[in-house]
Amino acid sequence: MNFPKITFALLLAVLLSSCSMLVSQRTPPGVTVDLIPGGRYARSYHRPMTPRYITIHATENRSRGCGARAHAQMLKYGTLKGRHNAIGYVSWHFTVDDHSIYQSLPVNERGEHADYDGPGNRTSIGIEMCENRGNDRARTVDRTARLAAWLMKEHGIPLSHIVPHQHWRMIRHDDRRDLGHKNCPHFLLDRGRPGAKWRTFLAKVNAYYRAM
Ligand SMILES: [Zn+2]
Repeated sequence: MNFPKITFALLLAVLLSSCSMLVSQRTPPGVTVDLIPGGRYARSYHRPMTPRYITIHATENRSRGCGARAHAQMLKYGTLKGRHNAIGYVSWHFTVDDHSIYQSLPVNERGEHADYDGPGNRTSIGIEMCENRGNDRARTVDRTARLAAWLMKEHGIPLSHIVPHQHWRMIRHDDRRDLGHKNCPHFLLDRGRPGAKWRTFLAKVNAYYRAM
C-alpha cells in the first residue's frame, strides 16, 4: 500500500468536493427554481461540478405547450431517459422560453446534456432554449443571452467559454460509440458550425455582461 499516494488522492478528493461547495448558489434574476429531487432520477447520486463553461442547446421539441415549465416537469419526474449515459437520465441546469426560465439542477452539480463522460458535462452549465410552437424565438434567445451573461459574471466564466453544444464531441458512455458533434443549437449555427449567427449571439451576451 502506498500511503502518501492514498493520502494525496484523499486530499485531492476533499479539495475538489469543497471547490464545488464554494460555487455560488445565488438564483439568477427571473429564474424559477424547481429542482429534480435530490437522490432521484438524474440526481440519483451526487455528482459535484465546478462550472467553467456554459453550453447552449435548443430542445428541438416543437410540441405545443412544451415550454420551460413543461421541460422542468419532465426532468423532475424522470421522463427523459438517457439510455447511453452513466446515470440513465438526461439533465441540464436551465430551460428558457419567451416568458420564463426554470432551473432543474444546482450549478455545482453536473448534468447529462452535452457529451456523455466528456468535459462538456463535467465542466459546463447546460442551458436549453425552447422551440415549442407559439414560442417567440427572438425573446427566448434574448433571455438566454441575459442568463448566460449573469452566470458568466457570477462564476467568473469568460465569453470564450460560452459554447454551443456542437463544441463538444459526443462519445457514448455504454458502447463508446462516437457520435461526433451535434448540430445544436441548430438555429444559431451555420451549416452545423459556429458562424455569423453564433457571433451575433455572443455579441448579445457580451453586451449584457458589460451592462451589468
Ligand atoms: Zn444540445
